[in-house]
Formats: sequence, C-alpha cells, structure tokens
Amino acid sequence: MTVVGVVGAGLMGAGVAQNLGMAGHSVVLVDISEDALSASLDRIRLNCRMSRMLGGPAVDGDEVLARITTSTDLAALADAEVVIENITEDEALKRALYPRLDEVCRPECVLVANTSAIPITRIGSWTGRPDKVAGVHFMNPVPMKPAVEFIPGRHTSPESLQIVRDLLTSMGKKAIDVKDACGFISNRLSHVFMNEAAYLVYEGVADAETIDEVFRSCFGHPMGPLETADLIGVDTILQSIEVLYEHFADSKYRPCPLLKHMVDAGHLGRKSGEGFYRHSNDLSQPAGGRGHLTAVRTGSAN
Ligand code: NAD
Repeated sequence: MTVVGVVGAGLMGAGVAQNLGMAGHSVVLVDISEDALSASLDRIRLNCRMSRMLGGPAVDGDEVLARITTSTDLAALADAEVVIENITEDEALKRALYPRLDEVCRPECVLVANTSAIPITRIGSWTGRPDKVAGVHFMNPVPMKPAVEFIPGRHTSPESLQIVRDLLTSMGKKAIDVKDACGFISNRLSHVFMNEAAYLVYEGVADAETIDEVFRSCFGHPMGPLETADLIGVDTILQSIEVLYEHFADSKYRPCPLLKHMVDAGHLGRKSGEGFYRHSNDLSQPAGGRGHLTAVRTGSAN
C-alpha cells in the first residue's frame, strides 16, 4: 500500500483516485474547490456501482471510498510517497502549483504530471527535484482503460521511473514508454482530428452526428471525434491544442474558433451537460458509456 496524493478532483483526478483506491492504496485527494471534491466522490460512488455493467470488475464502492480522504489544503500531501497532479490543462496554473508541491511534499516524494500536452522536462524545471518528476498520460475513463503513456523527463532518475512503473502495475495499467514531446503520441494525433472535426462543423460541412457516424460506421471506431471531445471536455481539448499550437508554432494545430466559442458559452461537453451533444443529467451516467446523447446543432460560430 502506497500513500498517494491526487491533486485536481475533476474528471481525471476522480478516475485516478478511484483506480488507486481499487488497487488498495491510501489516497489523499486535493482540489481548490469543495464542490469539485464532493462531486468527485459522487462520481466515484456511481462509477464503482456501474463498473460491472460497463465490462469492468465488481467494485465495492464503500471500500474504495474508505481509502480516499479529501482536502482543499495542499499540506494534506505531507505524507504522500507519490503525488499525481491532474489540475486544469492551463500552463500558468500548473506552473504555480509545482513549486508549492515542492514545498509541501517530502523530499523523496515523486511528482507525476497527468497532462495532455505539456512537456515533462518543462514541468520538472518548475521544481527543485526534476529527477523526481515523471509524466503519465492517463486515458479517460481511467479505471476502464488498460494502458497509459509513460513519459520520462530529461532528468527523471531511473529510481523515480521504477516507483511510478510499479504504481502503474499495481493499478493494472500497461505503461507504454513514450518520449517527452509536446502532446506525446496520443494527443498529437487525436487533437488534430478532433480540431479538424470541429472545423467541419464550423464550416457547415457536416453536423456532429454525421461526422461521428463516419468514424463509427466506416472506420469501425467505437466513438467519433466529437463524442470523444465531449467526453474529454471541450475546454481541455482547446487548452491542449493551444499548447500544441504554441509549442510547434505550426498552423496545423490552429485551434478551431468554434471550440473557443463553445468554451465561452460554457458548452464543455458531458461535464457541463452540453457540448457537441446535449447530455441528460451527467452525474446519473457513468463515465465511459455513450449515455443519452442528443445532438445539438452547434453550427458555425460567428
Ligand atoms: P477538469 O477540468 O475536469 O478538472 C480539473 C480540476 O483541477 C478542477 O476540479 C479544478 O478545481 C482543479 N484545480 C485547478 N487548479 C487547481 C489547483 N491549483 N490545485 C488543486 N486543484 C486545482 O480537468 P480534467 O479533464 O480532469 O483534466 C485534468 C488534467 O488531466 C489536465 O491536465 C488534462 O489535460 C489531463 N488529461 C485529461 C484527459 C481527459 O480526457 N479529460 C485525459 C488525459 C489527461
């Protein structure tokens, strides 16, 4: 049993905390928002209850929740052996957080960044312990996904990597080794097609349902790019594609204006109840299912 801190109790933090609890670890879940903490506990309870139905193992939600304590104070991480950071994909926010983690965590504690795009070497440079900073790009919904991208920073020590690798194994994850490049492998690919799918809607070429239908029926993908964008969060997609655009200074990552318009409108996908689709009562549905999707004509945003 390892004491693991999880910072950020949104979509990913809740999934990571649940998966750690299922693996028997003791979890300290920290967020700046009390509401996010209580919503994440509700989400974990629901996802444990629905695990079997979604093809996962039977999970005792009470046992999992008994292993998770919550706090809005980073000082609660003082005993953590590993901290997994899952806060908003906003470089300024992450940049402010890491020096604080450096202060409150034990010197030997390994810091794991769960980021969609920010290079791990850059994150390590915000701390005084770049040898103890590694990247794990978890997939959503975390407890249902068998693999992660595992990313060493330039200075990450073999000992730190082994600690994280062992933790991932205990969580039932296959760690796929990926070099430290902005967006890693998965998001270099997926964010280009989600952004391009948003352009197709923006330009009026097709609606979201038709685009997703092509992916499902013609390519055989279980989900289309815009259903996936709603599951991930339109705000997270926009923030990540902006990181790719800034990092590579390449127009192929130019964020679709429709994504910006949707974020301004609060249409963030499943987490807000509406994105490219309308989602009925988000918390009544477990993560991972297609749920009750009703297409919304998003149209072009002028
Ligand atoms: P989210 O918006 O659902 O949750 C982010 C949480 O971070 C919120 O609860 C917010 O209150 C909290 N937060 C913000 N600043 C904080 C701070 N300083 N201290 C503590 N908590 C803070 O986001 P998410 O989808 O869970 O994504 C989290 C991270 O995981 C991002 O870096 C994202 O790129 C990455 N990621 C997301 C997905 C996905 O499918 N959504 C997949 C892989 C990786």
